[in-house]
Amino acid sequence: MSFDLIVKGGTLPDGRVADIGIIGENITAIEPSLPAGPAKIVDATGNLVSPPFVDPHFHMDATLSYGIPRINASGTLLEGIALWGELKPLLTHEAVKERALRYCDWAVSMGLLAIRTHVDVCDDRLLAVEALLEVKKEVAPYIDLQLVAFPQDGLYRSPTARQNTIRALDLGVDVVGGIPHFERTMADGTRSVTELCEIAEKRGLMVDMHCDETDDPLSRHIEQLAYETQRLGLQGRVAGSHLTSMHSMDNYYVSKLLPLIAEAQVSAIPNPLINIMLQGRHDTFPKRRGMTRVKEMQAHGIRVGFGQDCVLDPWYSLGTADMLDVAFMGLHVAQMSSPADMAKCFDMVTNVNATIMGLDHLGLEVGKRASLVVLDAGNPIEAVRLRPERLCVIARGKVVAERPRQETRLSIEGRPAAVNRRHEAT
Ligand SMILES: [Zn+2]
Repeated sequence: MSFDLIVKGGTLPDGRVADIGIIGENITAIEPSLPAGPAKIVDATGNLVSPPFVDPHFHMDATLSYGIPRINASGTLLEGIALWGELKPLLTHEAVKERALRYCDWAVSMGLLAIRTHVDVCDDRLLAVEALLEVKKEVAPYIDLQLVAFPQDGLYRSPTARQNTIRALDLGVDVVGGIPHFERTMADGTRSVTELCEIAEKRGLMVDMHCDETDDPLSRHIEQLAYETQRLGLQGRVAGSHLTSMHSMDNYYVSKLLPLIAEAQVSAIPNPLINIMLQGRHDTFPKRRGMTRVKEMQAHGIRVGFGQDCVLDPWYSLGTADMLDVAFMGLHVAQMSSPADMAKCFDMVTNVNATIMGLDHLGLEVGKRASLVVLDAGNPIEAVRLRPERLCVIARGKVVAERPRQETRLSIEGRPAAVNRRHEAT
């Protein structure tokens, strides 16, 4: 067999050392050693070779807008939504597209090759929807971009949100979104979950709802989301994003809730960077962490990914498109410190997130798409610890980003001259 490209001698996340043979856009062989022949070689000796990073929760219509027209003074979710409301009328098609494409460049450089972005449909112009549909087409050769129709101001609370959600889906947006905790009443929130799930069922679409993103222990829309998923036969196609209220819920109630979520096969997408930043802002001390119950859900067999949510926008003043930052924060806030849990955090921002998004073509296996990342780390735990350089990023069989290894040369009196590397595996 003659390959177009061979990624040579890398360490896979499961610890195997192997050559990965690529023909066209696909992985066609993973063996201890492959004959080079005329293939282009990427030398990954001593480095981790991983499936691409995947972000199942992002807002690409808002990204890189930090400071326009002002910053979020209180740091709360609600001021962020109000600030986004001030920014929305200022948006232009060109500006949304330019910022989104710039962000996609960042993403590629970090090995982030699949993104699910919510797009606000509460602007009657649907300008961001149209801009991001164009971006989706333009980045398709290297990024899987999934769009979610997101009625940011409330499906019923905003007068045209309902019809705009339908319009956005008609234009080709992939996933049905919602925000039940932002409707006027709990009852309206419940009703919105039902109607949005029915829309998804009729159209054969997935659902991903901002759900219970609040410190209110009585915000229980996840219960309705699990119920509707079960009733409408949407198992495996529905995700609840954030679920932060679960942090504050009564423990007895949670002991009933977790099996219901598991039974409905609803996935959970906490967003650790944003949850730890925005939640608990109304508390004095002790101050709640406001991230959902990650380990407890996993123990019940619930699929849990980690999303990034925001980079430099009305809700978050930092961010780098690095899903390892997300895993690192998630590991800390959820106290996932055992070796198995640390490795799981890496798996969550790669394979688990891909499964949540229904991207069966991603993964380091023969027959899957040749999209992968070479990292300056020896194994997944070290990758989370270091958040190291992405030395080479390959999308659909093509090298799309390369970066030299970073090293520090030490010259300290009394210490041997040395090259300081934090990567211990080689
Ligand atoms: Zn969000």
